[in-house]
Amino acid sequence: MPLAKATEYDTIAAIATPPGEGAISIVRVSGDDAVELVTKLFRGKDLRQVPTHTINYGHIVDPKTHEEIDEVMVSVMRAPRTFTREDVVEINCHGGIVPTNRILQLTLTNGARLAEPGEFTKRAFLHGRIDLSQAEAVMDMITAKTDRSRQVALGQLDGNLATRIRALRQEILDVLAEVEVNIDYPEYDDVETVTTKLMHDHAISVRKKIKELLATAQQGKVLRDGLATAIVGRPNVGKSSLLNYLLHEDKAIVTDVAGTTRDVIEEYVNVHGVPLKLIDTAGIHATDDKVEKIGVERSKQAIQRADLVIVVLNASEPLTTEDRDLLKFTQGKKRIILLNKTDLPQKIEQDTVQQLSGDDPVMPISVLQNDGLTALEDKIQELFFGGIENSQTTVMVTNDRHIALLNQAEQALDDVLTGITNGMPVDLVQIDLTHCWDLLGEITGDSYTDELLDELFSKFCLGK
Ligand code: GDP
Repeated sequence: MPLAKATEYDTIAAIATPPGEGAISIVRVSGDDAVELVTKLFRGKDLRQVPTHTINYGHIVDPKTHEEIDEVMVSVMRAPRTFTREDVVEINCHGGIVPTNRILQLTLTNGARLAEPGEFTKRAFLHGRIDLSQAEAVMDMITAKTDRSRQVALGQLDGNLATRIRALRQEILDVLAEVEVNIDYPEYDDVETVTTKLMHDHAISVRKKIKELLATAQQGKVLRDGLATAIVGRPNVGKSSLLNYLLHEDKAIVTDVAGTTRDVIEEYVNVHGVPLKLIDTAGIHATDDKVEKIGVERSKQAIQRADLVIVVLNASEPLTTEDRDLLKFTQGKKRIILLNKTDLPQKIEQDTVQQLSGDDPVMPISVLQNDGLTALEDKIQELFFGGIENSQTTVMVTNDRHIALLNQAEQALDDVLTGITNGMPVDLVQIDLTHCWDLLGEITGDSYTDELLDELFSKFCLGK
């Protein structure tokens, strides 16, 4: 595709770096007037004359008062080889809130409009530099929680998912084209049969590929959003200690007083590349204490929304009714049962717990002595990523929007096949096939609505 220079958009500006103090901050300006505009504020070389993709030393000066605002380096990048495909100027200033804001204000009073969240990326999309799934990957990259999440985001940023989706759309389009020809210029007497078979075979083939993509969704979502993990157990069994071990720093309260872990807090930890979103919960146990009750209720909620439940039992005390209740309550969830405090004299048999736990893993550990914890991390990784290769080229579906669209596309193909089985006329079957093609197009943004764009890009940070 030739690089087209965009013209129909106004010039926007925003601070592209996080707020606060740092070595440098960047004010980014994009649009037809970007170079002209910053030239007015810049004392140094004439930016209109400098070669594209150069960085230039000088000062930002208020053109009205001639007040010098900051010493800066200014990058000038001319369209179309820029992130937005428009002229982009980036002012690298000292990383303080005041100079950065003053410079942003100057761009705004001199003709730029404050960019909306994600507007630079939105323009990159609207100007055809990236597709929608790549734009979404930009955000995933920024929020990647582990290196493995980053790899998946990078793959999507490189267009891996879009390439797959476009191939599926092409396959459907070829069929639709051939169906049209067959209908318009029937060469054979049995044209209806031939056409129906064509649609049938390709519906099966595309559906299979969609299923393959959807099969990666569980892992993909975990990599992108984290694996919601609830650590549950009676007070004092060692939940906070385990949490602290996983966090590798003392963030949760560890104490001997029963029931002190009252609040549900959420943090991410990296377990062999799997981002665990830890939901720390108060122990499930009968209580009259009001605050405690809220905690217990929350524990139950946490179990319900968890992808993984880690049940902690204290192996140095006999199994209690509460322990048994907890094992019952967590049945059917993906779970790991830990027998903690194996450094102390044992009061629980592993076999007994195993019988109560079905096929779920029961693992003896001692958080205090750092025993069995690596095995626990291995087990978590195996439960969720067993058999998945860790490769940059692996295409994974990670995004709820994509998953929903793939499911709908699969449904549309089911409708195609049902229609064929029921002897529906070709032109009606064609409608479902076209619908599938449209749905897939929404993933890449080959077909989109303004509402979708607004919603999607509003989740971006400012300046991106
Ligand atoms: P929670 O109430 O379930 O969060 O339990 P804590 O993590 O606060 O631990 C309660 C007490 O048990 C603390 O004094 C911990 O130091 C102790 N503890 C935790 N794990 C072990 C362990 O493996 N062995 C022993 N002996 N004590 C432990």
